[in-house]
Amino acid sequence: MKVGIVGAGMVGSAAGYALALTGHASHVVLVDRNAALAQAQAEDIAHAVPFASACLVTSGDYPELAGAGVVILAAGVAQKPGETRLELLGRNAAVFAEVVEKVRQAAPGAILLIASNPVDVMTQAATRMSGLPPGRVIGSGTILDTARFRALLARHLGIAPQSVHALVLGEHGDSEVLAWSTARAGSVPIGAFADQMGRPLDAAARAAIDEGVRRAAYRIIAGKGATWYGIGAGLARIVRAIAADQRDVLTVSILTPELLGVRDVALSLPRVVGAAGVLADLHPELTGEESEGLAASARLLKDSATSLGF
Ligand code: ADP
Repeated sequence: MKVGIVGAGMVGSAAGYALALTGHASHVVLVDRNAALAQAQAEDIAHAVPFASACLVTSGDYPELAGAGVVILAAGVAQKPGETRLELLGRNAAVFAEVVEKVRQAAPGAILLIASNPVDVMTQAATRMSGLPPGRVIGSGTILDTARFRALLARHLGIAPQSVHALVLGEHGDSEVLAWSTARAGSVPIGAFADQMGRPLDAAARAAIDEGVRRAAYRIIAGKGATWYGIGAGLARIVRAIAADQRDVLTVSILTPELLGVRDVALSLPRVVGAAGVLADLHPELTGEESEGLAASARLLKDSATSLGF
């Protein structure tokens, strides 16, 4: 599958690199307002291809996106000193207004995969701007938070992350909800599994894992200024589900008609992802406290989207 990437900065290029190495795309096209950057990133990534799988990596302007099955939107502007979150959001929405229209013209059949932050609000904006059905405008959402949750649980239990099923729901950000009550290892509830392994998940262990998931981006940003490898791999994982029509259950963000009394809000739930985009939404059975947290997260996101006019 041909995959376009608009925004060849850290996140966009990391996604391109992950796609080139994994072979989930046959052709990756990088587009950026800064054409020289897109060209340099494409050339650098192309040099990794001989060591990995066959993938054509090029750069160009929007018309080069013609025929793409997925276009990743990773364009954005950085926060200026003294700028409020809402002002930043407004500037990023303006970037999207331009980018979404050009992508729609060049690749009308493409699924849009949103990576720019705040990803839930940008997903809501891109859905409205594009006029596409919500299942074809997919935000990376909590795919990475879920991966971190599974990895930290697996490390605590001394097992493979693939054997841990645990979800992070709601906002990709501070209000996200770690759905502890539905977490399983094998088919065993996570607490019972931990006890059987002799590695109980007591309050301290749970708090450490919660902190590890919730504060991960802050720690990475403190050390290196931004995050890109994890999200790049997460974006490649979503492309794989679409390109191979895998029907994987992934926590991704789309505009959701109703959740816990909040209407029309983009946030993450487990969803079935295949060639047509999101095919179904799943609503895990949560505890009262988890539901309240998820509803609060939904309200917060709805307020942000509403204040931007989406
Ligand atoms: P991140 O860490 O989120 O990837 P970067 O600043 O590294 O952030 O990358 C964002 C990229 O988006 C930059 O390369 C920038 O040139 C690009 N960009 C910003 N506005 C536009 C636009 N209107 N059209 C295309 N690309 C854009």
